Amino acid sequence: MGGAMNQGARVVDLIVRKRSGGRLGRAEIESLVSGYSAGTIPDYQMAALLMAVYFQGMSKRETVDLTRAMLDSGCRLDLAEVSGPAIDKHSTGGVGDKVSIILAPLVAACGVRVPMISGRGLAHTGGTLDKLEAIPGLKVFLSEKRFSRVLRRVGFVISGQSSRWVPADGLLYALRDVTGTVECVPLIVSSILSKKLASGVGGLVLDIKVGLGGFSRTAAEARTLANGLLEVAEHWRLPTTALLTRMDQPLGRAVGNAPEIVECIQALHGRWDRDLQAVTFALGAEMLILAGLARSPRAAYRRLEEALASGRALAKFEAFVRAQGGDPRVAEDPSRLPTAPVRGSIRAPRSGFVHGLNAYEIGMAAARLGAGREKVTDDVHPAVGLWLLKKVGERVGKGETMAQLLGTSRTDVRGAAEIVSGAFRIGPARKPEGRMVLARFHNRSAERRRSSVA
Ligand code: URA
Repeated sequence: MGGAMNQGARVVDLIVRKRSGGRLGRAEIESLVSGYSAGTIPDYQMAALLMAVYFQGMSKRETVDLTRAMLDSGCRLDLAEVSGPAIDKHSTGGVGDKVSIILAPLVAACGVRVPMISGRGLAHTGGTLDKLEAIPGLKVFLSEKRFSRVLRRVGFVISGQSSRWVPADGLLYALRDVTGTVECVPLIVSSILSKKLASGVGGLVLDIKVGLGGFSRTAAEARTLANGLLEVAEHWRLPTTALLTRMDQPLGRAVGNAPEIVECIQALHGRWDRDLQAVTFALGAEMLILAGLARSPRAAYRRLEEALASGRALAKFEAFVRAQGGDPRVAEDPSRLPTAPVRGSIRAPRSGFVHGLNAYEIGMAAARLGAGREKVTDDVHPAVGLWLLKKVGERVGKGETMAQLLGTSRTDVRGAAEIVSGAFRIGPARKPEGRMVLARFHNRSAERRRSSVA
């Protein structure tokens, strides 16, 4: 591309072509991403292009080119000094989704290396970084040097994205967030995969949430996203497995920052709910298989159970908290986590069985209490959140407590209580609990890896 005028003229041509359903070439996509990263393409043109992509989509070739251009916008992590197979897990986000904080120490205790780049919560979904920051002293933004050191010493690390790492994604995501273009499969695929490819992992397991509290409301939408991710990952021969998991009601019992850390610690002590355990073990088994550390799901489950029962997973968590500057005593004594000053409870209006517990509304109630944010720049409160004492399929008696709320003011607790009351549906007969894992897909590289270890 030539000077600014020439570039401006070309950008508008590309917008018009995409708007009309045409395709963009590799060099064109590269110049769009590099021009936007360098500040020579203004927000208004990139916003128009993103909206054109939102309506017209992108071919697989264009999505691969966009992923590559974003990947090339920053530096990559060098895992050469890390011994052992490095596998990551990525979730599309949900309510009460604390899986990463249990799963990473669990699989690290089995020998998998997990260099995890996580994000903050937005709207009704919580973020792993916000949850971890509830642990006193724990740092969630590490230098590249410290990131590698924690990974080598502990076996896993969880950090926010540094500005040197896929900077184009940081810029584009911020623009998508304010232009209504987040929910677009090729943009999501390139955003997720550019970060995972930059982290240099040898395999990836995706948790694609389906339901009211997830990014994909239906299994068909989730399947489309899974296909896009698997296909583009295959271009880089990155073995990738995608699980579609249910997100109609929150995962586990705690929603919020410190409350979810308490639940993670309980899980690492072996005390957890069936749904949380089912999703964590299903993802962990796939990670072990991709890492070549288990030959079958059954063998993987045995290894995971042993890592949990022996206390090795808990010891990994404690080592991680210490290595990232936090107070490791929380692993044995969660009362060291911040606590909220104002409490409230929700009581059942009648006897029966819980038929529904709307995950989206519970997520919004947690945000109302201060656990989540509306804008990326909002602060969250580490102590607030809620505990669900009743979940779908469980019996409730009239007047029994169904949820406990933890807030910082009576107004917030009253506001959240109204939302939580509306989120419960109570019916006369027991509703059977469904499967947590709805479907499982692998790309060709993952299938090859699976058959080579079988
Ligand atoms: N998560 C990401 O990292 N990027 C997206 O575009 C959506 C979810």
